Amino acid sequence: MTLANGRPLLAMPGPTNIPDRVLQAMMRPAEELSSASIVRLTDSVLADLKRIFRTGGETFVYAANGHGGWEAAFTNVLSRGDKVLVLESGRFATGWGEMARFMGADVEMLAGSWRRAVDPTTVEARLRADTAHAIKAVMVVQIDTAAGVVNDIPAIRRAIDAAGHPALFMVDGVASVGCMEFEMDAWRIDVAVSASQKGLMSSPGLAFVAANEKALAAHARADMRSGYWDWSGRMNTLAYMKHCGTAPEHLLFGQRAALDMIFEEGLEAIWRRHAALAKATHAAVETWASGQALGFGVAEPQERAPSVTTILTPGFDVAEITDFTRDICGVSLGLGIGDYSGKAFRIAHMGHFNAASLLGTLGAVEMALQAKDIPHGTGGVAAAVASLAEAA
Ligand SMILES: *Cc1c(COP(=O)(O)O)cnc(C)c1O
Repeated sequence: MTLANGRPLLAMPGPTNIPDRVLQAMMRPAEELSSASIVRLTDSVLADLKRIFRTGGETFVYAANGHGGWEAAFTNVLSRGDKVLVLESGRFATGWGEMARFMGADVEMLAGSWRRAVDPTTVEARLRADTAHAIKAVMVVQIDTAAGVVNDIPAIRRAIDAAGHPALFMVDGVASVGCMEFEMDAWRIDVAVSASQKGLMSSPGLAFVAANEKALAAHARADMRSGYWDWSGRMNTLAYMKHCGTAPEHLLFGQRAALDMIFEEGLEAIWRRHAALAKATHAAVETWASGQALGFGVAEPQERAPSVTTILTPGFDVAEITDFTRDICGVSLGLGIGDYSGKAFRIAHMGHFNAASLLGTLGAVEMALQAKDIPHGTGGVAAAVASLAEAA
């Protein structure tokens, strides 16, 4: 029998659960594209994104997904043939590098591992060796959603500084902004990227990019610039130009409501909520792992991301879990992607997600482990309950 009919739950790392308030904010007629309220809406979202990225720099909104945000980021600051160093940490770091290569960048991947965070000492050593300063940008993902790893962005910043290297520092915060500390100015991130449908709790379809003065100076020289992504066009005072055309009105209505919810809860409180949910997830996975059929993707506990946990499944076919939780319980887990395709599943505890969502998700996984006779340590959910009770 199926027990899936009820409110469906997304426990995958994007898209995430959209709050009813956000959905309701979108249920309204379109407006004239330059109406006073659309102008105000655009300005308020651009201003509040500065509070989200923690920057006094410029912010940009694109009708695009995260991949569009990637392209917006590098086309604005790079020229064809520029060398960029991509810090490998999973599928998303590689994907960003591949897109830059498409556009004519000379991409070097700094080899890393899906099981560990980027090692800042190897970054420093590579940059020190670049005495001619051929590397124009260092690109890193804060939370690589495929590996489930969190990279230490301030430590990587210190590594760049220790090498005395002038490269732009570009950070993908698609799966981390709104879920954990992100301090664009304090960490001297030059270009930051995020998107609407993960920690920022809104519909897929908006990409966000932030740029500081150093990035804007690079923009003035960049030759990869193209019409739609171009920052100069979007820094125009005309509202229409800020979107390079008609505003994605309904996506903005939704994002406005989501931003209101984020500031009502408070960014720091949201970071703490994500940390507590992650810790409880780890307690459950650790318990299950004693059965030897599954285990953590990321070996070191402090390198596990606060918004998503990747679980390797060497002992069984992962579809036994993910099909069961979806079809029998109404919970969508993340599948393994890239190197982990068919070999892992992912539990996202990201965005509009609370203790009840997490316990429902972990309960569904534990139910699948039992129903499918997959060897596992019993009491994973109980361990998560204990962890949450302690946190609360
Ligand atoms: C989801 C994700 C992306 C890509 O976003 P899309 O909206 O799917 O294009 C990029 N980077 C990270 C870290 C992500 O988690």
